[in-house]
Amino acid sequence: MNQPDTLILGGGISGLLAAWHLRRAGQVVEVWEASDAVGGWVQTLPWPGPKGEPGFLERGPQGLRLGRNCALARLCRDLDLSFVPRGPKGPRWVGKGGRRRPSPATPRGLLTDPDLGLAAKLRLLAEPFIGTGPEEEDLHRFFVRRLGVDFARECLPALVAGVLAAPLERLGVEALPRLRTLEARGGLLLGALRGGPETTRLLQGGTGTLARTLAERLGCVHPQRRAQSLEALPGGRWRVRGEGLTLDAAQLVLALPTPAAAALLAPVAAPSAALLAAIPTLDLRVWHSRHAPVPGWERGFGLLIHPPEGPGLLGVVALAADDARGVPGLLQLRTYLGGAFPVAPGLEAWPGVFQELRRWLPELGEAVQVREEPCPGAFPLLAPGHTARLAQLLKALPPGLHWLGAARFGPGLPDLAEGIEAWAKTFPAR
Ligand SMILES: Cc1cc2nc3c(=O)[nH]c(=O)nc-3n(C[C@H](O)[C@H](O)[C@H](O)COP(=O)(O)OP(=O)(O)OC[C@H]3O[C@@H](n4cnc5c(N)ncnc54)[C@H](O)[C@@H]3O)c2cc1C
Repeated sequence: MNQPDTLILGGGISGLLAAWHLRRAGQVVEVWEASDAVGGWVQTLPWPGPKGEPGFLERGPQGLRLGRNCALARLCRDLDLSFVPRGPKGPRWVGKGGRRRPSPATPRGLLTDPDLGLAAKLRLLAEPFIGTGPEEEDLHRFFVRRLGVDFARECLPALVAGVLAAPLERLGVEALPRLRTLEARGGLLLGALRGGPETTRLLQGGTGTLARTLAERLGCVHPQRRAQSLEALPGGRWRVRGEGLTLDAAQLVLALPTPAAAALLAPVAAPSAALLAAIPTLDLRVWHSRHAPVPGWERGFGLLIHPPEGPGLLGVVALAADDARGVPGLLQLRTYLGGAFPVAPGLEAWPGVFQELRRWLPELGEAVQVREEPCPGAFPLLAPGHTARLAQLLKALPPGLHWLGAARFGPGLPDLAEGIEAWAKTFPAR
């Protein structure tokens, strides 16, 4: 068997990105993926319609948030991926005070938010004049400092809960690394203006196309190869054993969920393993459902909720009626609950979830199809102080062992792509 310079464990998007960049730098790489399919959370799964019509659901991201020249956009260009032309989006709401309201993440929502007085709106204009903050800060303090206490209290909890599945206070700024980039560029507003517009783009064939294409182009990604143990060899090389296979490599990259990485590292790098094991991960419950169409929602919709508003629902997003992943004539939703918030017993089965959905979306009819896709350990919870612990963890890793993934660079694909591209530039040459 050919010995690679670098063996990458985990064929999720992190492992695939690492392989892509190292290969381009001239390394001979190989990727081991435990499951039958590559992509980890970035997979578009078949979900036929009620009459067997072709249809799909996304395990993870439904679209890619892209800036003009961000690492993820560059990657999509390098891979020649095609995007689906897309019209305007449907309504975006937050659930608040028992009602849905226009999302304050849009200019209209911001101007019309009834809980944000004139003083709070004027306070937003001061944001470009606020300097950078302390290294260790939770998201609540970060936003209070930059945007004012009213905005942080009234507008952000639902947006953050709906995206990161945890309350602002339990998350460090590290959970959204882009915030520090924007701050360094002169503030959230100026930084965003200077960085150019960002849009959510949909890939032809779904988000899973990204992972599939990477794996096809690499040609060295092996599904059904679960790494089971690591061993340090004399001369600084590493041996990996997994289900009847043994492979030696000079460099090992662990692109695994943190519990899996911690378990493998425990016998060979106990201090790093202990720090990894201490990073909490969040479980999400995700329900996909199809319903009769609802007038006004043809362009899809999004609704984010901060769970103290209800028994644990975090959000729901709809595909646009012309989205090729859906089934023509049916409205397709993805509803998610849990994360760092408790889920009330009634929401453990679809009838309870539907009842809760109807509280916010009374227009919604009974589902004609429902499928649950549980997401255990979906996100790492990057608490305040994560960067300092991360530095300790990386310092404690023995030479030749590398670790990357959502807990290192943030769970968003643009952050992962940016982080892994930069990481690969520091990788030891052959
Ligand atoms: C429901 C949901 C919605 C999301 N929405 C968005 C979004 O809108 N925008 C966004 O940017 N991000 C989103 N994300 C986050 C994003 O998808 C993830 O952060 C990202 O995909 C993580 O990729 P990864 O490769 O680091 O980890 P994973 O995808 O977890 O991949 C790790 C891989 O390692 C494999 N593995 C595990 N153990 C072993 C072993 N012992 N040996 C070999 N392989 C092993 C696993 O099978 C898996 O394939 C979402 C995630 C979820 C779950």
